[in-house]
Amino acid sequence: MAMAHTIAMRSRDPATKVGCVIASPDHKRICIGYNGFAAGIENRQDWWETRGNDVLSKDTLVRHAEENCLANCYENTEGWDLYVTHHPCVRCASLIVHKKIRTVFYRHDVKQRYNPELSREILRRGQVALIRF
Ligand SMILES: [Zn+2]
Repeated sequence: MAMAHTIAMRSRDPATKVGCVIASPDHKRICIGYNGFAAGIENRQDWWETRGNDVLSKDTLVRHAEENCLANCYENTEGWDLYVTHHPCVRCASLIVHKKIRTVFYRHDVKQRYNPELSREILRRGQVALIRF
């Protein structure tokens, strides 16, 4: 979890910095990610500070730490553990289930607008353990 917090510092998001680490069952192989724009998209501060779904903005450009972490990982992640600084959102919960992660450890809860109850239900139905750590 300390590594996830360290990786979160790489995020250019002025509001929320999220870090994610996934680790193989023996913890010898890891992948990392943080919330940020897709590789190749410049990190313009005005885009980070703009909100809205119909313009170049944080809302349309940001990829969540879990998404980047799993996209950066070329391993079969079945049975791996995921450490993330913030409770996964609904979109990431579905991706975590799809990638057959075994356990999610998180530190911070998220606002109700991210619907954490639905995220927990998706993880539960996908047989992914969720532990506040
Ligand atoms: Zn997410």
